[in-house]
Amino acid sequence: MNKATVVIGGGIAGITSALELANSGFRVYLIEREAAIGGQAASFCCKATEVCTKCSVCLIPRKLKEVATHPQISILTNSTVSEVSGKIGDFKVEVLRKPQYITPERCIACGMCAEVCPTEPKAILPPSPEAIPYCYVIDETRCLRLRGEKCNLCQGICPTTAIAFDLKPERQELSVGAIIVATGFEVFNAREVGSLGYGRYPNVLTGLDLERIFNREGYLKLPTNGKEPKNIAFVQCVGSRDESHGYCSQVCCKYAMRFARLIKHQNPDVQVTIFYIDLQTAGKGFAQFYQECQESIRFIRGVPVEILPTPSSKLEVRFENILAGKVERETFDLVTLSVGIAPRKDSWDLARILGINLADYGFFDTKEPFNSVETNVEGILLAGTCQGPKDIPDSIAHGMAAAERAMEVLEKCQ
Ligand SMILES: Cc1cc2nc3c(=O)[nH]c(=O)nc-3n(C[C@H](O)[C@H](O)[C@H](O)COP(=O)(O)OP(=O)(O)OC[C@H]3O[C@@H](n4cnc5c(N)ncnc54)[C@H](O)[C@@H]3O)c2cc1C
Repeated sequence: MNKATVVIGGGIAGITSALELANSGFRVYLIEREAAIGGQAASFCCKATEVCTKCSVCLIPRKLKEVATHPQISILTNSTVSEVSGKIGDFKVEVLRKPQYITPERCIACGMCAEVCPTEPKAILPPSPEAIPYCYVIDETRCLRLRGEKCNLCQGICPTTAIAFDLKPERQELSVGAIIVATGFEVFNAREVGSLGYGRYPNVLTGLDLERIFNREGYLKLPTNGKEPKNIAFVQCVGSRDESHGYCSQVCCKYAMRFARLIKHQNPDVQVTIFYIDLQTAGKGFAQFYQECQESIRFIRGVPVEILPTPSSKLEVRFENILAGKVERETFDLVTLSVGIAPRKDSWDLARILGINLADYGFFDTKEPFNSVETNVEGILLAGTCQGPKDIPDSIAHGMAAAERAMEVLEKCQ
């Protein structure tokens, strides 16, 4: 009976499962396909005004540090699961590790490699401040050497000989008793709703763009001229509650209201309007937060059908005002599309490797409707948004539940 566990996916849900298991004495292999762990929320911003608005983003760095230094957890970045055999208590998991070309233990993030990199934008990138492991990353699509040309500048200048281009993919077999799948979600691609102009009009942004802009810059300016927008709209339910995504993404109303409050806090003269179909205000204290938002933010129950640029470089939103029962138009400086949580397009591949089922829309399915962690394969459990939309606190709770269940099944197998 093997008491080790593989956790696939190093977002907040997978990290939580790994920590729960490791703190109870179980060995954990945390497998992450990207160069750093943390998942989507690692690049999000704190949305506090003069008070904390409980967006939970600050929970991530703390947990990242804990997981990175835990003696019971091995982190395998740049890695995916390529094959699984066996059964509960005795799974064999084959992990494929892509070469990273930079050894994390040697990289001191001095940046000399990026200075000499001849491509524009650079093919060798600094890690985000909280990245774990903290190591430069090579973008294979841009690197001249990896595209078959004769460039050796970064390798030649690296003072710690951390860069090696001759590395090959490695395969490793792990023996474990249980597997937790925590592969997360994809942010809905707003380009799919062509009529809202994302990708065509620079002042149409998404919620994900806002997360990154506030994380990087701390405030919002117009992408077209760098000036502060005076009149901003949020469009809710982009990629949620439509024909192909008939579910609520659970997070968009909350992040939009928190951003709206933050923008008003930074400049009370900015007009902020939120277009919504139905507001999701569940969660401790959130109904009260919504009431407070109503004092300074305009809420319009309406579905924007089209966004068009005006001759004065503004954006005209045409929307169906549901309460008034007519189509109306309003002009804004900037529009943010509140994009939702979509299942990962590659979930099907992993479902096939693990033998687990997919549910409606493409999230992983559970064995029974009222059991959200167990799959149709005994010993393979789900954590976080790979099972369905959740915010950070719910992903943490789900990660804990998956770990608890993994411990129960491992103990039973003895
Ligand atoms: C625009 C936007 C804003 C949001 N803002 C907030 C907010 O303010 N507050 C809040 O509480 N929630 C917010 N959320 C929700 C939050 O992002 C999620 O709750 C959280 O990221 C879910 O964590 P997760 O671990 O389930 O998934 P993810 O964060 O997606 O992590 C999954 C990890 O698994 C890895 N992975 C995927 N496939 C594989 C594979 N095959 N093998 C190995 N690794 C793999 C991924 O690279 C990733 O690191 C927001 C969501 C969106 C879309």
